[in-house]
Amino acid sequence: MSGVSYSGAPNQCQPVEPDPLVPLFAPLTSLRGVGEAVAKLIARAAGGERVIDLLFHLPESYIDRRERTTIRAALPGKLATLEVQVVRIEPPATARQPTKVSVTDGTGFADLVFFQRFPAARLPVGAKVLISGKFDDRGQMVHPDHIAPAGQPAQFPAVEPVWPLTAGLFAWHLRRPVVDALSRLPALPEWHDAALLKRERWPGFTAALRALQMPAEPPSPALRKRLAYDELLAGQVALAVVRRRVRDRPGRALAGDDRLRRKALAAFGHKLTPTQRDVLAEIDADLAAPRRMLRLLQGDVGAGKTLVAILAMLRAVEAGAQAAIMAPTEILARQHLRTLERLSPVPAALLTGSVTGKARARILEGLADGSLPIVVGTHALVQQGVAFKDLGLAVIDEQHRFGVDQRLLLGKKGLVTDVLVMTATPIPRTLLLTHWGEMQVSRLTGKPAGRTPVKTTLHSLATLPDVVDAIARKLDEGARVYWVCPMVSESEEIDLAAAEERFATLHARFGAAVGLAHGRQDSAVREAALADFAAGRTRILVATTVIEVGVDVPEASVMVVEHAERFGLAQLHQLRGRVGRGAAVSFCLLLHDDGLQETARRRLTLLRDTDDGFRIADEDFRLRGGGDLLGTRQSGLPGWRIADPIEHEGLLRMAGRDAELLLQKDPRLTGERGRAVRLLLRLFDRTVAFRTLHSG
Ligand code: ADP
Ligand code: MG
Repeated sequence: MSGVSYSGAPNQCQPVEPDPLVPLFAPLTSLRGVGEAVAKLIARAAGGERVIDLLFHLPESYIDRRERTTIRAALPGKLATLEVQVVRIEPPATARQPTKVSVTDGTGFADLVFFQRFPAARLPVGAKVLISGKFDDRGQMVHPDHIAPAGQPAQFPAVEPVWPLTAGLFAWHLRRPVVDALSRLPALPEWHDAALLKRERWPGFTAALRALQMPAEPPSPALRKRLAYDELLAGQVALAVVRRRVRDRPGRALAGDDRLRRKALAAFGHKLTPTQRDVLAEIDADLAAPRRMLRLLQGDVGAGKTLVAILAMLRAVEAGAQAAIMAPTEILARQHLRTLERLSPVPAALLTGSVTGKARARILEGLADGSLPIVVGTHALVQQGVAFKDLGLAVIDEQHRFGVDQRLLLGKKGLVTDVLVMTATPIPRTLLLTHWGEMQVSRLTGKPAGRTPVKTTLHSLATLPDVVDAIARKLDEGARVYWVCPMVSESEEIDLAAAEERFATLHARFGAAVGLAHGRQDSAVREAALADFAAGRTRILVATTVIEVGVDVPEASVMVVEHAERFGLAQLHQLRGRVGRGAAVSFCLLLHDDGLQETARRRLTLLRDTDDGFRIADEDFRLRGGGDLLGTRQSGLPGWRIADPIEHEGLLRMAGRDAELLLQKDPRLTGERGRAVRLLLRLFDRTVAFRTLHSG
């Protein structure tokens, strides 16, 4: 959504004020010294292509060059900034030798050493210069960081920001554009309470950005904290806006007579487990109550969430409404469709990006006129043009793969009646608060009867031939095997190459029994590969992590993961959950690098020794030091640019309370502070809230 479209809302008669944020939403190429190529690099490092993205790309540390020293006092290996005079230049004797520049400052002599690019113009004999860099043990400074004429205002920053970079991007690319970007910062009204600012000693938003991006002295932690709070408040206000709409809209009672459910359970052929029954009772109570449901269903992989979701959806249909289930991938959506086709007594259709043309038109029509009671889809479901006649329940599967507040808005009609979110990730309380605010939680514990424990073993990759022999024996016994190749890089090409190579070697040995599935295949090809495996036409499926979430092939009993050390523990646990779904004893073989680091070994050992998803997530968190909780950063929890919801948990709670109070006083954000907060929401791309603020 483009951010600028809100001006019409509260009072159409007001003169339209000029939008102060326009310069910040301009493209990076509008900055001095930024061409297309550099803009691309900055966008990669900063995570966005606008001026504001560069401004929010804060330094991770600072180099303090304020203190001056002398040649005699300078310590090897320590940063030194000093004035010197050039005494002599010793050109290289051969092309491979450096240029040496002998300098003095009256306390001693030293050499500046240049292997390439000797800046002759700046270092003529007799010149007095200010240099900054590190001396080595021999009293030489190889390639000083900075050289500037002495006695003038410093031409390099006394406190130098160190920005996170990316391949091909250097700090000097960023310096000028950052200065330029700072100069575009408009005067903005303050969106925080004066009392809070005073108590925390926080400066204003623009002052904090300036002091962090172009500091005269190393910035105090309060500055970053201020911006972190800005970001957290934006998130919490957006969330609160959406949640209030959920709460305020009249809910409806969805009651049913069990007729569809009974048929579905009969088709399923098993009884519900006791916890499935409990959880379903909680959901039914929510559905039957005349208020909106917002419930999270947590349950380990294979705990049987899908069945619960389907029964909940059928209850909505019994009550005369429609139901939708949204999955993170096309594969999963198709799998849900297959399950529905098996169990649901009423029609269900698939709506994903690959459903087009007439078929799509027919489904959209069915959803709009209500003749289609159930739809399964990917995020295509929230796209334009999808309208339901009467959507009563939306189920969102594996929510950690999705963005945030958008998911509470499903379809053009805006909010649905009831929302059930399902996840296998044991999301800690803090993250729940961050992403969903308060929501009811149901937990499915234990596994349905008939699931067998998975035997997990660790193997060095050096023993690969033995592993392949063992697989050959399992195949002889009729087993079906997943073989997962890791995400090794940011480049999917490389990942693909690894999977394709493994496919080739296994194919050479096992022939047509081997299939290949990865995310870059055409979805029809990938579907066919999975279908072949599910039907037993192939018996080894070489895959990238496309199979990670939710794929259900009960006959599969062996999971091989190559370079297991490169996966998050929670992710490995998910993968392992793909087997152990049938009657056969199942195996998970974790292949790892030979030179495994101690922490990595401990993580894999833990996984070998326990099957408790919550414990695994906890330990993963502890062992990784919290830097990358549950591997969520890779798997797409919406990125926080400045705040860290774990580190800033206190601030997060504060922001939550702040947001609630603000909206109590000013529900449509039209007061003075409210209008300032609107700017804040746009600065942090929380514009989804606007749709909610302005919809009926
Ligand atoms: P989740 O979605 O929680 O990962 P699934 O719904 O895919 O788990 O269930 C895992 C497996 O257990 C599936 O093969 C499913 O058919 C089976 N299952 C679910 N509930 C029961 C039950 N009550 N009795 C027997 N099997 C069940
Ligand atoms: Mg599942």
